[in-house]
Amino acid sequence: METRTHFIDGQFVSGPTVRLGPVMNPSTGQQVAQVALASESDVDQAVASSLKAFTDWSETPPMTRGKILRSFLHLLEENQDRIAKVVSDEHGKSLVEAKGSLQRGLDVLEYACGIATHLKGTFSDNVARQVDCYDLRQPLGVCVGITPFNFPVMIPLWIGSLAMACGNAFLLKPSEKNPTAPLLLAELAAKAGIPAGVFNVVNGDKVAVDALLTHKDVASISFVGQTRTAKYIQETAIQNHKRVQAFGGAKNHMVVMPDADLDQAADALIGAAYGSAGERCMAISVVIAVGDEVADSLIKKMAPKVEALKIGPATDLSAEMGPLITKDHRASVLSWIDTGIKEGAKLVVDGRAYKHQTHPEGYYVGGCLFDHVTPTMKVYEAEIFGPVLSVVRVPDYDTGLKLINDHAYGNGVSIFTRDGDTARHFAHHVQVGMVGVNVPIPVPAATHSFGGWKDSAFADIGMHGSEGIHFFTKLKTVTSRWPSGIRKGVDFSLPQTERR
Ligand code: NAD
Repeated sequence: METRTHFIDGQFVSGPTVRLGPVMNPSTGQQVAQVALASESDVDQAVASSLKAFTDWSETPPMTRGKILRSFLHLLEENQDRIAKVVSDEHGKSLVEAKGSLQRGLDVLEYACGIATHLKGTFSDNVARQVDCYDLRQPLGVCVGITPFNFPVMIPLWIGSLAMACGNAFLLKPSEKNPTAPLLLAELAAKAGIPAGVFNVVNGDKVAVDALLTHKDVASISFVGQTRTAKYIQETAIQNHKRVQAFGGAKNHMVVMPDADLDQAADALIGAAYGSAGERCMAISVVIAVGDEVADSLIKKMAPKVEALKIGPATDLSAEMGPLITKDHRASVLSWIDTGIKEGAKLVVDGRAYKHQTHPEGYYVGGCLFDHVTPTMKVYEAEIFGPVLSVVRVPDYDTGLKLINDHAYGNGVSIFTRDGDTARHFAHHVQVGMVGVNVPIPVPAATHSFGGWKDSAFADIGMHGSEGIHFFTKLKTVTSRWPSGIRKGVDFSLPQTERR
């Protein structure tokens, strides 16, 4: 069985690994490889390589870094089928979904190629007589990305593209559940001319993460994963004086107003709730139906579509939904469905018994649709991260808005309405980081920034866009005066602007 190792200094490195984890194909339930779980000394080796590479990369002019990143972009585009296949094999998502997520990663890489423009500083001439002032944004050093299983290529590209473009060395610790695609990214980065050590990958689990969080030569941590892990990462990184952004889980709502086009809303919900088997941090998992008529109509439209979802392995090009990531996660999703039933929610479509005919060992759950979910139920509070959609009935818009604002999570949200006043009120008052108006999954474009609020993000700054550039650089402000501008004699006063 093949072992996925680490990629350090431009090559695959196995090291004296003693701990290994299984890499499974969720579509079949079969083990396809094993992954090396890094020790502290493996992490030391990776960080030392990153730090060494940082010295020259940080001095490489931004325009040159952008050109090298563009070669990387082209190589990834040429290899997109190969990359998507690896993502699908180890995640279980369809090839179309895998390619789509790669494309969203490439968008950020494309944005990063223009880094020379984005890093242009500001200059103030004559802030005092013959004194000038200017800002520089300089790289941090070794920037670590710790990423989740559900986007093994897109999220590393969101973090790594800007980290490297800004002149940092990027060290990735991907999910141990699907390590092959991240390794392929690093291999292609080296082939594209990104210097050895600028993009390293160290595989592993909590041991590797803890070694990175406490390592003296790591400057920043960008984390994406579950909320409980995100909290731990943020707290530990801060204790160790690292710059940190930690993005967590979600429970994304969609409000459907009585004036909405209900056919459009129902179709949008099917894609947003069941696409990628609900394993997206921006998946819609709750519908807030305003009024019983809206709820009844949505259930009537959605139930047959959920029942008819075409479920299959990643290799089945006609499949609309694949398996969940692991056997344990499947068990967790099934247990949440049981909890919902016990709590009194009505399971309108029950996908618990689904088994794929040719892959009975795959980690599949059929689409599930709950009606009459109430805000006090645990099934409403928790992120289930599976193909389960809950309908919550509210009498009016204000009640719906309050529910969303009271919820612990605040990643994404959407409203379907034809009324501009309601849409504007919603976008302005909702306590959520990313808002859609008649858009079910409002993932911001690469030129904007991504990030939730409340328990969905422990970060003051978003991913990619201008916030990404701020995260991966530190501000330096230079105030300068040349000898001809210096008056003779000692001056003990604090420099100040002239007042008249
Ligand atoms: P996870 O938290 O289990 O793992 C994420 C990373 O943290 C992995 O690299 C893993 O090895 C590491 N890790 C796990 N447990 C750890 C621990 N105790 N100590 C140190 N490191 C640990 O997340 P996951 O299950 O891989 O991903 C799914 C979660 O990610 C969902 O909750 C989803 O909502 C969230 N997610 C959020 C966003 C976002 O932008 N907010 C995007 C994608 C996924």
